[in-house]
Amino acid sequence: MGERLLSLDDALARMLAGVVPLPVEEVGVDDAVGRVLAEPLAARLTLPPWDNTAMDGFAVRSADAATASAGHPVTLRVVGEVAAGYAPTTPVEPGTAVRILTGAMLPEGADAVVPVEETDSEPGLATLPAAVEIRAPAPPGQHVRRAGSDFHAGVPLLPAGTRVVPAALALLVAGGHGTLRVHRRPRVAVLATGDELVAPGEELGPGQIHDSNSPALAAQARAAGADVRRLGVARDTLAEVETALAGAIGWADLVIVSGGVSVGARDVVKAAFERLGRVDLWRVAVQPGKPVAFGRARSSDGREALLFGLPGNPVSSFVTFELFVRPVLRALSGDREPTARRVVRARLASAVTKSPPRRAFLRVKLAPDPGRPGERVALLAGGQGSHVLSALAAADGLAVVPEDLDGLPAGAEVDVWELEGA
Ligand code: AMP
Ligand code: MG
Repeated sequence: MGERLLSLDDALARMLAGVVPLPVEEVGVDDAVGRVLAEPLAARLTLPPWDNTAMDGFAVRSADAATASAGHPVTLRVVGEVAAGYAPTTPVEPGTAVRILTGAMLPEGADAVVPVEETDSEPGLATLPAAVEIRAPAPPGQHVRRAGSDFHAGVPLLPAGTRVVPAALALLVAGGHGTLRVHRRPRVAVLATGDELVAPGEELGPGQIHDSNSPALAAQARAAGADVRRLGVARDTLAEVETALAGAIGWADLVIVSGGVSVGARDVVKAAFERLGRVDLWRVAVQPGKPVAFGRARSSDGREALLFGLPGNPVSSFVTFELFVRPVLRALSGDREPTARRVVRARLASAVTKSPPRRAFLRVKLAPDPGRPGERVALLAGGQGSHVLSALAAADGLAVVPEDLDGLPAGAEVDVWELEGA
């Protein structure tokens, strides 16, 4: 059609150009997940800090229990008890045992633990017996978690640039960190534009639909680690869009506007970007999402806001967030690999068509390939129109069909970008 479209890669490179991680702040553990570490962190202590028991049972000297069996049990005198959270008070001398509960420090002299199930002792809340019958041998080290068997004080735990996920948080806290130095969360403002839009749950009048994009975009931004403010709906006038955006610039690092970036008579968003700052690019060779626009503006005190104008069609809005906004948010968050994605290979279950020269992202479900164990097929999740939310919601991922093709036959292998939490 002769229109000049930027390639996805060029557009993304221009959006990411000059984006640097936001300033560093120190946060508590409950605000850390989704953030990116601003410094490498090492273990402040050794874990476990001391030898301890992996089982409820009796701490013994293994030599005492070497010959024990169900037929020929060994009887040991019980000289005390140690629970998790307490220092042992009684050493284990030859011929004796100390009752021990999971996580408790191994008493001096003991080198093995006999689980309660391998003794004559009652499991559970039994009172401390005077003696215990050991019914199985206890090799040295049995059920003992050695000091340092996880990590030693001083070893590197995670490098700078690591995104804190729940497992990483557990590791860092266990390693002695009570606060973390991380990059600030990107502040994101989300504005919907459209005379037809009403707030979620409200009664619809003639010609009206619900603004489903801004709640979805806000949720996508939060999932990418942002602090989000929803600005509601602006009507399709330059004045209204400009006023709403002007109020967000200064607070927001990134502004997302849904709708109004196409070539319609009321598509005022680019004009609003130009009045507040500038438009850096418009129209990218992707399907859905071609009309996406990107620009920048500065507040009166010099703070830069990145401006994203996403097409209003709900699937286009969702997909262009994934393609463009998420990587930029991740880069602002300090992520060293902001464009990294989980990609799987799959075979198309049916033939597909698309329009060149755009890279298509088809909404697909993934299933085991019945003909090829261990491989997967990608089935269209429903209609591929950019208004079809039922297919988006059913999709596991976006199957990528390259720019220059006008389709692919059934059985063709494609990359599928997995949708996190979709
Ligand atoms: P636009 O990009 O403004 O031309 O809108 C394209 C299509 O998306 C139209 O059918 C709009 O009604 C629809 N649309 C625009 N904004 C939203 C929104 N926030 N939520 C749901 N649908 C929308
Ligand atoms: Mg519109």
